[in-house]
Amino acid sequence: NKYSVEDVLRISKERGVEFIHLQFSDIFGVMKNVSIPIEELDKALNNEIMFDGSSIDGFVRIEESDMYLRPDTDTFVIFPWRTTSGVEARLICDIYNPDGTPFEGDPRYILKKNLEEAKKLGYTMNVGPECEFYLFLTDEKGNPTTITQDAAGYFDMAPVDLGESARKEMVSTLKEMGFAIEASHHEVGPGQHEIDFKYDDALATADNVMTFKMVVRIIAQKHGLHATFMPKPVYGIAGSGMHLNQSLMKNGENAFYDPSDQMGLSKDCYYYIGGLLKHAKALTSITNPTVNSYKRLVSGFEAPVYIAWSGRNRSPLIRIPAKRGNSTRIELRSPDPSNNPYLALACSLAAGLDGIKNKIDPPSPVDKNIYEMSETELNELNIEKLPESLEEALTILEKDEVIKNALGEHIYNKYVEAKWSEWDSYRTYVTRWEIDQYLTKF
Ligand code: GLU
Ligand code: MG
Ligand code: MG
Repeated sequence: NKYSVEDVLRISKERGVEFIHLQFSDIFGVMKNVSIPIEELDKALNNEIMFDGSSIDGFVRIEESDMYLRPDTDTFVIFPWRTTSGVEARLICDIYNPDGTPFEGDPRYILKKNLEEAKKLGYTMNVGPECEFYLFLTDEKGNPTTITQDAAGYFDMAPVDLGESARKEMVSTLKEMGFAIEASHHEVGPGQHEIDFKYDDALATADNVMTFKMVVRIIAQKHGLHATFMPKPVYGIAGSGMHLNQSLMKNGENAFYDPSDQMGLSKDCYYYIGGLLKHAKALTSITNPTVNSYKRLVSGFEAPVYIAWSGRNRSPLIRIPAKRGNSTRIELRSPDPSNNPYLALACSLAAGLDGIKNKIDPPSPVDKNIYEMSETELNELNIEKLPESLEEALTILEKDEVIKNALGEHIYNKYVEAKWSEWDSYRTYVTRWEIDQYLTKF
């Protein structure tokens, strides 16, 4: 373990921490905060801080609303940016019921539970995410627009590139918070960026994704920009993905690597791919959870549309990056950053493990550009499409016992209820597109 309770108390004192943010995630991956003054830290580390669970979307009813926060001391971080209230730190927490049992509606618990399943079979999971996002300008009132400085300033030769300097500060801030940044670059879309940090075990990575989004938003704001993880903010330009590079470890070694195989991949790896492909449609309801997610999953923008895998190509759902040995991994390309990283990882793992347990062979890899294949070719190769809407994904989720089981009853029920109502609200809304198409025509 990184930090003990004593470490957290000592470091807080040494560094003059005045406020602690106790953080956790709701079922949609939105970070929640209970802030306490330093005087309460002892109590917090003793798991005595309570909050009203009924105030959080998708948690519990009012009658049973007392929940306890149990800080995970390994997640202790001091915020490197200045605030008006002095030095602040945070701890990510697990949520417990008053009777001392873990709360089934806590997504972090759900990921832990699935990791526990993997452990029974001898596996641990490593994940490296690739987070993409857009930086948009804000208007005079400070409200976000969908205009980027790239677009606004392309011919102006703006002396400072707001986006680039914001991204630099994001990287240095993340480094100060202990992130190992592997790459950071401008992405294909105007105003679109990507920052990649080093892989870690799945739980640490999910925590990191939550922290990452928080940092990116805060630093963007400092630069007068709005950072968004919305999957497809502008029609006709690239959407933002959150590709998940996944591997399993067994007995301290990469379980996906087998030098004697033609592709350098182990049986476990092939089965894991088989499981992901088998459950791909239902999994999409979790990895791509919003109405908007499905506007990204279209041809022509490096986002996957078809359920296939490849050793090279970027058009299929799963790609195998070239590195072998300890770096052997599969890259799942469908997830987008509007998802809840705890649930996305829990369900990906459950799908892959189902492949391993049931020895599900994947179909042959497809090394051609799938976007350019004809309908007949796709049919001959038996290549199916990912769901085209949240509605389709949810309908399939309802029939997929493996993914349902991975979520657990509590989260599954709350999740589908909320997502169906999101779909319904969208389905009945009259959009700009319809007005443009029909108002004068009929
Ligand atoms: N932005 C693309 C997506 O929506 C991915 C681009 C890339 O391959 O990094 O997934
Ligand atoms: Mg990218
Ligand atoms: Mg990638």
